[in-house]
Amino acid sequence: MYGKKLALGAAMMLAVSSLWISGCSSSSPDVAIAVESATADLEQGNTVYKSTFSTVIATIKKVTGVDLTSAQDPKTVVITCSDSRVPPELIFNKTLGDLFVIRVAGNVADTDELASIDYAVEHLKATKVIVLGHKKCGAVTAAVDAFILNNKLNTPAVAHSKIAELVNKIYPSVVTAYDELNVENPAADNSVSTVLIPKAIEVNAERVREQIVDELNELKVEGVLLGAEDARSSIYVGSAIYDVADGAVAFNQNTAVIIDNANN
Ligand SMILES: [Zn+2]
Repeated sequence: MYGKKLALGAAMMLAVSSLWISGCSSSSPDVAIAVESATADLEQGNTVYKSTFSTVIATIKKVTGVDLTSAQDPKTVVITCSDSRVPPELIFNKTLGDLFVIRVAGNVADTDELASIDYAVEHLKATKVIVLGHKKCGAVTAAVDAFILNNKLNTPAVAHSKIAELVNKIYPSVVTAYDELNVENPAADNSVSTVLIPKAIEVNAERVREQIVDELNELKVEGVLLGAEDARSSIYVGSAIYDVADGAVAFNQNTAVIIDNANN
C-alpha cells in the first residue's frame, strides 16, 4: 500500500515537472508562437517607421543642424502621465529630438523624475519645462477615491502596494483641491468626486510645477544651471492640462514662472 502510494506520488511529480518544463520552455511550439505573435504588430510598425527613418533624420539635421544619430538638443521638457492617450510628441505635433519626455502615472515628480529634469536642463540646456496633466486621469481619480473612502482626512491611504505608494504621492493634491473647493456638502460623495477630480488634476499639475521650480532654484543656487553667459539663460516652468476628449491643451500661464539665471 505504502509502496503503491509512493509510486503514484512519483508519477505525479514526474507529470507536474514535465508540465512545468513544457509550460516554461521557450522551445515549446506553443510558447514560441505566443512569443512571436506578442510582438508581431510592433515589429510591423517598426518596419514602417524604419522605412522613413533616414529621411527624417536627414531633414531634422538640415533644419536644426543636429545629427540625432549622435546627439540631442531638446528645448522642451515635458513631464506627463503614462496614460496611453497622452503622447506629448503627437499632442504638440513634434518630432524626434524635440521633446525630452518623462512619463509616469499621475505625472508625479519624485527623485528619478526630478533627476531626469535636472539632466535635461543642466546638460542638454532645455529652456522650457511643462507639467502636462490630463483630464480623466486614472491615477488622480484613484487618489480622489482614496480621499473619499478615507472620509476626507488629511492622511494618505495606507501604502501596502506600489500603486498605493504612487496614490499617496498624489494625495496631498486632492487634499488641497478639496480645501480650495470648499465643497458645501462633503457627504455627497458622487457630487464631490465630480468636481474634485478635475480640480485635483489641476492642483496636482501645479504642485508638481512648484516642486520643479524649487528644484531648479536649488540648481541655480548651486550654480549648475545654465551659465549667465549662456544666451539661453532663462527657463520657463509651467503647467497645462490636456483634454482627452477634444485634444486641446490649456496652459496655465497665470502661474508659469521664468527662472532667470542671469539675475541672482
Ligand atoms: Zn493620468
